[in-house]
This record gives sequence, structure tokens and C-alpha cells, in this order.
Amino acid sequence: MITILTIAGSDSSGGAGIQADIKTIHRLGAHALCAVTAVTTQGSRGLSSVHPVPPGEISRQIEVAVADAFPGAVKIGMLKSPGAVKTVASLIERFRLSNVVLDPVITATAGGRLLDVEALETFLSELVPRADVVTPNIEEASLLSGRPVQTLEEAEEAARSLKSLGPDVVVTGGHFPDQCVDLLFDGKGVHRFPGSRLQTTFTHGSGCVFSSALATCLGMGADLHGAVARARETTREALRLGYACGSAPGVVNPLGGCVRGGATDDADIAKQGTPVDQTGLRNGES
Ligand code: PLP
Repeated sequence: MITILTIAGSDSSGGAGIQADIKTIHRLGAHALCAVTAVTTQGSRGLSSVHPVPPGEISRQIEVAVADAFPGAVKIGMLKSPGAVKTVASLIERFRLSNVVLDPVITATAGGRLLDVEALETFLSELVPRADVVTPNIEEASLLSGRPVQTLEEAEEAARSLKSLGPDVVVTGGHFPDQCVDLLFDGKGVHRFPGSRLQTTFTHGSGCVFSSALATCLGMGADLHGAVARARETTREALRLGYACGSAPGVVNPLGGCVRGGATDDADIAKQGTPVDQTGLRNGES
């Protein structure tokens, strides 16, 4: 069985973080090994608390996982402190982990800081250079590169600047004001993946789904271009099948038809389009 290691924060609302990663990795046919970096409490009133896991405990989770079932790829999400960032960076080196996909989780969708301000410098100097691919959205690309990113041209400049630190870069385009284009820069050329904007507010977890899908596809042997294409498809499907969940904000659904009953009522389903059957396909799709 191919294993994919996710090193990420727990989201108590179940939509993003390590919960989204596990669903995505399993949906794509691999087994998720997990190292929890923080416990976040969030719900309809936003982010209520963040409890970081001590770096020594993050380290132990990774050491045991790697010793038992060496992962084909690694997805890194939320890391709170400079200590957590340093620990993960040194373990990538020590275990020679490959296909390392770094999702720079900086703020929560619900508002509130997930990466400490004082951790940003360590993040850029110690972790980004050890990743194989980094997957910022446009706000994260702007914070990491220190330049505004509102247009595709600015995203390309930010991608080139991040590539100078080492990893290939995918700037995800879900937050562009008027288009939805993901941009891949691998140091040789820029590839744009255009797509129509999906009309949904059930977006919580979409960045986590994209980065964990990308790691899973790389771990299963896809090349970078193919892995980005499949990660996009997986994310778009999870967005199309997202649902409202009680009074908490709506979440993406990377598990497709398995959670058909998840929509709270018919109105939710109607808002999202045609109901799905148990295979995750919409009526009429094959
Ligand atoms: N990880 C955790 C623990 C989070 O709480 C969040 C967002 O709130 C994320 C990651 C990133 O979520 P998204 O995939 O919506 O960007």
C-alpha cells in the first residue's frame, strides 16, 4: 500500500486541515499517515483557539510513521511556531523525504493567524528550500514573496521569486478576483491551467484538498504536470460536491458520493446542482 504522510493541523469543524487531507489521500487510493501539529477549534463563530503540539511530539509522530511505512510523498500544512517549522525542516533532511508538497497555511479561512508572524522568516529560510513543490494561493504567494499578487502576471513574478528558493511553485487561482487559473512554474516554463469559476461558498478546505491530492498523485508516480492536473480535478470535484454543515460554514467534500447524506436539506443540494449518486457522479455523467 502506498502511504502519504500528512503533517498538518486538526480542524475541529472537520472541513480543512488534517481531516481534509486524510479524506483526500484515501479517496485517491493511498493510506494517510498523520502527524498532528496543532489542535484548532473552529466553528460557526470562526477560529476560537489554537493549541500547538510541542515540536518534540511532532517529531515523534513523524519518526514512527516513517520507520513503519516510508511515505511515497509528504504533504505539509499548518505549522504554528518557528520550533515546529525547524523540526519538520530537519526531519525532511534526516529521512531524505521525497515528493514534499508544502502548503503555506498562514491564516485560517475563518480569520485568525495559524503561522506565527515570527515563524515566517524560518519558514522561508529553512522549510521552503527543502520542499519539492510549494502551493500558495494568491494571498500566501504575496506574503511569502513580499510583493502584491492580484493578477496572473504578478502571480508569475511571485512564483519566479519563490522558485529562486528551490521548490517548484503552483500558485492556486481560486482567489483571483475575476478568473480561476492555477499557475505552475517549474523553473523551465510557466504553465497555466485555466478553468471556469465554480459558484459555491462551500470552499473551506479547498487548499488542503489540492495540496494533499498533489502529494498523493506524486507519491503514486505521476509527473508534476499530470499531478497538478489531477489535483485540480480532485479539488474542483470536492468543491462541486461541497455542502453546508449545521450552522458552521460550508465545506468541500473530497469523498464524493460516500457522504451523499451530508447536505443538510434539499435546498443545499439544489444550491449545489444535481444530486450525486453513490459513485460520486452526477446524473447523466459517466
Ligand atoms: N489547516 C487548518 C488547521 C485550518 O484551520 C485551515 C483553514 O482554516 C487550513 C489548513 C487551510 O484551509 P483551506 O484549505 O481552506 O485553505
